[in-house]
Amino acid sequence: MAIGRILVTGGAGFIGSALVRQLIAQTGAQVCNVDKLTYAGNLASLAEARHSPRHQFHQADICDRPAMETIFRTFRPEAVMHLAAESHVDRSIDGPADFIQTNVVGTFTLLDVATAYWRGLDAAEQRSFRFHHVSTDEVFGSLGADGSFDETTAYDPRSPYSATKAASDHLVRAWHHTHGLPVVLTNCSNNYGPYHFPEKLIPLTILKAIAGEALPVYGDGSNVRDWLHVDDHARALRLVVEQGRIGETYCVGGNAERTNLQVVEAICDVLDRLLPRSDGASYCEQIRFVTDRPGHDFRYAIDASKLARELGWQPQESFASGIANTVAWYLANEGWWRSVKDGSYQGERLGLAHA
Ligand code: NAD
Repeated sequence: MAIGRILVTGGAGFIGSALVRQLIAQTGAQVCNVDKLTYAGNLASLAEARHSPRHQFHQADICDRPAMETIFRTFRPEAVMHLAAESHVDRSIDGPADFIQTNVVGTFTLLDVATAYWRGLDAAEQRSFRFHHVSTDEVFGSLGADGSFDETTAYDPRSPYSATKAASDHLVRAWHHTHGLPVVLTNCSNNYGPYHFPEKLIPLTILKAIAGEALPVYGDGSNVRDWLHVDDHARALRLVVEQGRIGETYCVGGNAERTNLQVVEAICDVLDRLLPRSDGASYCEQIRFVTDRPGHDFRYAIDASKLARELGWQPQESFASGIANTVAWYLANEGWWRSVKDGSYQGERLGLAHA
């Protein structure tokens, strides 16, 4: 089912902008991009999609009910892909209020407005409408050395961020079961790739490395994440919104588990090849172990076999190719990250709780 009009929330963020770029480049969809443009939103991340006649942008807060009602009434979406969120665990430790507001109250507001709009559609439009909620594997808590999360894993969120995402997932399912809103959900692992805000591990490491600064690794670097390339994730989101079964959840993972230390070392290896240090030493020399994140989840891993089985999705990017492309992208796109760094965030440590 090709969807004609898609309302994307958070489309100026890291994953949302990758999705919008794909929707404009690879489909014929009209895209209505709703984003508050917090510190994490950046219209420059939309690249050429921003100027397409099939893309319209509204700077609005998903908590603003009248603004959402106007957008639904005028754009008349056939699907909503909801990515707008406060997304950084460290920031949720320092200031959880924005997370409660956007992730919980904002998702509630969007669900309520979407449900009223959906009730006003004719029967065929109601059947094909979808509300796609984009969430995280962090709602499942933390794994030990073995095992993986899948769609049947019980919720056990442990950070303020993951608690608000878990709350929003529950709200979305409740609106489906109580009001019949046709929803689909995805829970994915850590994304990486171009246009990633430099507070997150991979872009932070790249930019600190080339600036000659220390490369902070939390704790002993043994925490494990599964890494999913953002373009693979965007492909999965498009499949799920078009073909996913109503009421179902799909886990999305990159099948690329790495310890944080391995990730930082992989970045250093790529930089050693692409931009050797003038003294001939490896960028690994800049690695420094720093105080761990409070309550740092040990390991996340995703079993994405339901998505593979039902919708035929597989990641196209290996971690080795994805990380090499990502490092090369940051080296080639200094204008983008310099403007981000000249703004609200200079690379300082966040999320120590009591600092
Ligand atoms: P991001 O922080 O890069 O982007 C979030 C976007 O939402 C920004 O453009 C911001 O301006 C916008 N936004 C924030 N509050 C808003 C509000 N009240 N109203 C309207 N817009 C608002 O986040 P991301 O990494 O692109 O994540 C997108 C979604 O995917 C989030 O829901 C996140 O929880 C989820 N997710 C992300 C990852 C990851 O690795 N990045 C992993 C799993 C799930």
